[in-house]
Amino acid sequence: MSRPVDLANDIGEVLLTEEQIAARVAELGRKISADYAGKNLTLVSVLKGSLPFMADLMRQIALPLRIDLMEVSSYGGTATESSGLVRIIKDLSASISGEDVLLVEDIIDTGLTLNYLVRYLRGKNPASLKICTLLDKPARRLVEIPVDYQGFEIPDQFVVGYGLDYSERYRNLRFVGVLRPEVYSSLG
Ligand code: 5GP
Repeated sequence: MSRPVDLANDIGEVLLTEEQIAARVAELGRKISADYAGKNLTLVSVLKGSLPFMADLMRQIALPLRIDLMEVSSYGGTATESSGLVRIIKDLSASISGEDVLLVEDIIDTGLTLNYLVRYLRGKNPASLKICTLLDKPARRLVEIPVDYQGFEIPDQFVVGYGLDYSERYRNLRFVGVLRPEVYSSLG
């Protein structure tokens, strides 16, 4: 039986408030601005979960930059587990050859999705390729991923909000939180 999504009451615990996220994104933006001065910065983000992070981060970077968007889906997994089998739904719009690419991710969990993307993007001959993730769950890593910029390390919990979904819902929450357990069993 499916129940209606109740944005206000389905969250059991707020892990990161809107204010905490904004402060950290501003810090990351300052660091990236310093590190990429004089370079050909292209931010590549991965839809849909990274959308709010990308939008906020790019406005905290005080440098000329380009953006590009990819969309991937992992198949063979479940609503809360990725399988590592990645399908590209939307590819880059422009060449990144010679660009200093910063891959902007919402969350790194097992690392399988990112591992695939890094290999894919390296094949396009960027001048450099680094990784910026808002959230990092290192406890669940299955492949080693060099994370250059990390917003927050979080425990091994499935989180939603600020772009992250459960069954395509909750992306529009302004904070990152954990769903009440009963939501998983009842939302179809
Ligand atoms: P990975 O391949 O690193 O295991 O997973 C990457 C993708 O799985 C993320 O881009 C995200 O779409 C999804 N994912 C991993 N952990 C979470 C989580 O805690 N919450 C949500 N909503 N998605 C997650």
